[in-house]
Amino acid sequence: MNYLKLLKENNFCTPCFLVQEDIINQLADDIEVALKSKWKNGIIGYSFKTNNFPWLLSFFKQKGYYAEVVSSDEFELAIAMGYAFDRIIFNGPVKERETFEKAVINGAIVNIDSKRELLWLKECYANAKVKTRVGLRVNFCLEKYCPNESQCGDEDGRFGFSYENGDLQSAIGFLRENNICISGLHLHCSSKTRSVRIYQAIATVAKEVIEKYNLDLDYVDIGGGYFGGLPDKPSFNDYFSAVYDILNPITNANLIIEPGMSVVGAGIDYITSVVDVKSTLNNHFAVLDGSRIHIDPIKRKTSYSYDIIYNNNDNIEVNGKKQILCGFTCMEDDRFFSIENGLVSIGDNVVFHKVGAYTMGLSPQFIEFYPAVYRVSNDKVDLIRRKVTANDFILINKGV
Ligand SMILES: *Cc1c(COP(=O)(O)O)cnc(C)c1O
Repeated sequence: MNYLKLLKENNFCTPCFLVQEDIINQLADDIEVALKSKWKNGIIGYSFKTNNFPWLLSFFKQKGYYAEVVSSDEFELAIAMGYAFDRIIFNGPVKERETFEKAVINGAIVNIDSKRELLWLKECYANAKVKTRVGLRVNFCLEKYCPNESQCGDEDGRFGFSYENGDLQSAIGFLRENNICISGLHLHCSSKTRSVRIYQAIATVAKEVIEKYNLDLDYVDIGGGYFGGLPDKPSFNDYFSAVYDILNPITNANLIIEPGMSVVGAGIDYITSVVDVKSTLNNHFAVLDGSRIHIDPIKRKTSYSYDIIYNNNDNIEVNGKKQILCGFTCMEDDRFFSIENGLVSIGDNVVFHKVGAYTMGLSPQFIEFYPAVYRVSNDKVDLIRRKVTANDFILINKGV
């Protein structure tokens, strides 16, 4: 995209997010093609928590994606956005009983995470209006299969029923005793690496469980956590082929995937303007109207993908010293990065790329309210959220 042209032709209210529909659309199509080349009825659930911005939720619904939700609030959000019950995948450790039962009896895909949900299921199973689609979330030691790649190392992931200690077996036994059909297994894992090996481990465990307990499943849900839109990283085909090679010989179960980051991460930018430059005894600073809290709310990022658009020729010279780019908050650590050449001056723009995942939905209303969001498609730009105002803020925080 030609940012110079885009910024010249549009009067963006900065800071703002820019949703690049064409990129997201391409990623969404690519992952679907890769999945369906192996499982022609494969199901894709968009992970709401990765970015729950309503425009995106509508977009993925239109593409035929299911909603992948991990709380009762997200479940209600999916219903409010028009997703049908049978187009919702309900995961998560803390579901509310009422929503849980509604989901089960109306045919949502519900992956059971805990013993209390097993008991709820037993109570509501007979009331089902359609065929239920209930699965078990499998907890297994990913670290054993992929040393140094799992998120939690030797401390174990905390979701689902442990395969190794027999809890999974007990859960399967409980469902069988109560004549409850086990439709699927859910094995999402978060990892540090998003490598293909993670999915080979997931598929290997699914295979073992299916064989050991002689399960006849409708689906295996391998969750999300893929790379997408980044060069030099595994492709969607790499992931699904690896899983296919392990599962296809032993089961006819359909595959469910739950991408988040891989379909929205690379498709959203954040545009800021330089509002001030200053020097101190030891340093030089540029102050942006954006903040790290919008694109790195958990303050873990160590590098940024960005472009600087110079709108001025009067760039300051600072005698070989670096310039640190900072944000609008009053927190000292609201510093993005420093530059040593091509220093910025007032009126320049700094555009941060690929910031669509775990940003907008995680940002606090801290010091400034939510920024504007624009969408661009075919070089045409429109506003899809105006900046949140003080009155909006009061309204949602009044409570009663
Ligand atoms: C977070 C999550 C996802 C999506 O993960 P990404 O890394 O955004 O792709 C999918 N499924 C479950 C159960 C999750 O918790």
